[in-house]
Amino acid sequence: MSVVASLLHRLRRPKGEEREVARTDVEWAAQLTPEQFHVLRRHGTDAPFGGPSVEPDAEGMYRCAGCEATLFRADTKFESGTGWPSFTDAESENVELQRDLRMGIPRTEVRCRRCGGHLGHVFGDGPAPTGKRYCINASALAPADRVNPS
Ligand SMILES: [Zn+2]
Repeated sequence: MSVVASLLHRLRRPKGEEREVARTDVEWAAQLTPEQFHVLRRHGTDAPFGGPSVEPDAEGMYRCAGCEATLFRADTKFESGTGWPSFTDAESENVELQRDLRMGIPRTEVRCRRCGGHLGHVFGDGPAPTGKRYCINASALAPADRVNPS
């Protein structure tokens, strides 16, 4: 394949096909709760203070509800008062940032790199040390009973 043909092939490939964890919508719908599916696969947003209770796993990591990739360290979580779990930093190897113009204002979307799931957005008004506020939907994080089974 020529370089140009190879490039075109890559550009035409639908987003998500190269994910380490790639499932169809039907498969995701079978695995996730309706709320998790809405947020992760349909770019949805939990109502403020309306998401499920989430806890870090035994290693102090918050994990993706879709693929269990480690996303945020518990010691970066802070109380933002917004009603969404908020973090000052993310595990950069498992998280990707993408420009999002859906609301008519430029925002930066936060996605899980492994499964492509929508997690939330990152803003520049967070506390020290990073000044960042990762505003994350609780429905995108693995629920407490899954990361810490009794
Ligand atoms: Zn994931």
